[in-house]
Amino acid sequence: MTAKIIDGKALAAKLKVDMQVEIISLAQKYGRAPGLAVVIVGNDPASHVYVKNKKIACEQVGIKSFSYALPAETTQEHILGLVAELNQNPLVDGILVQFPVPEHISEKRILNAIAVDKDVDGFHPYNIGCLAARQPELRSCTPYGCLKLIESTGIKLHGKEAVVVGASNNVGRPMALELLLAGATVTVAHRFTNNLKSHVERADIVVAAAGKQGLIQGEWIKQGAIVIDVGIHRLEDGSLTGDVDFDSASKRAGWITPVPGGVGPMTITMLLGNTVTAFKKHVGVVT
Ligand code: NAD
Repeated sequence: MTAKIIDGKALAAKLKVDMQVEIISLAQKYGRAPGLAVVIVGNDPASHVYVKNKKIACEQVGIKSFSYALPAETTQEHILGLVAELNQNPLVDGILVQFPVPEHISEKRILNAIAVDKDVDGFHPYNIGCLAARQPELRSCTPYGCLKLIESTGIKLHGKEAVVVGASNNVGRPMALELLLAGATVTVAHRFTNNLKSHVERADIVVAAAGKQGLIQGEWIKQGAIVIDVGIHRLEDGSLTGDVDFDSASKRAGWITPVPGGVGPMTITMLLGNTVTAFKKHVGVVT
């Protein structure tokens, strides 16, 4: 079997076109475009690239972005003050603080200070709790993007065995909640899981988010399974690869995401989508 490619880039592009049309009509009706505030602290080059890409994506769909690039020595109090200000700013629908932040700043405190209705990353414990309680509000971007990729195959999730490899707050855990909400039977594997292979082998859906290059071997994959690779690793030659051994896995999987061009473009698109959702709440289109 040779797997069909789940093209995240193409799906993201389609969703962005639809979003652009919707934003034009919302902006006309409500007199302003959705606004996203992006805060970055320090000089981490990768984070600056991510932030730049997010701003470009905002421009593409008509979301207004507000940028706050702060020096590495910025105090926690200063950032909390800025977040409090943005929470009150009526032109700002979403607030994104790019992580990681320098070590003297508590990510948890910053995250918990963001107004829940502006938490467009979907990382706040309130929004994770809403997803757990089957009342999703702003959904974590990467897991929600993965769900959209899985849904794009047309395969129904009810009763399927799903294995999520990785249990982080931002990816693995909300991914498991998304799959559970969609009707799958979910196993979450993490660094203390024994015999990872035995779990992956029975999965109809594998979401690999361990941050370990090539961890998931092709021979572990069940024939016909859907394989979603969240991992991103830059190789010495500058190319990108994931947590799944793509060449061997694509011989057994039914569907597979590439790296790059799979999950990454969907993550940014879900961020834009969350900003539009937050805007609609703020202007009263939805309650
Ligand atoms: P993390 O380091 O916070 O969490 C990794 C998780 O994997 C942990 O729960 C850990 O217990 C588990 N793990 C580690 N080794 C394991 C092993 N051998 N077997 C099973 N589980 C293991 O990482 P994260 O933030 O969740 O990100 C994971 C990967 O996804 C990284 O490569 C990251 O760069 C990538 N990522 C990609 C996107 C995207 O848009 N494509 C978004 C977020 C993260």
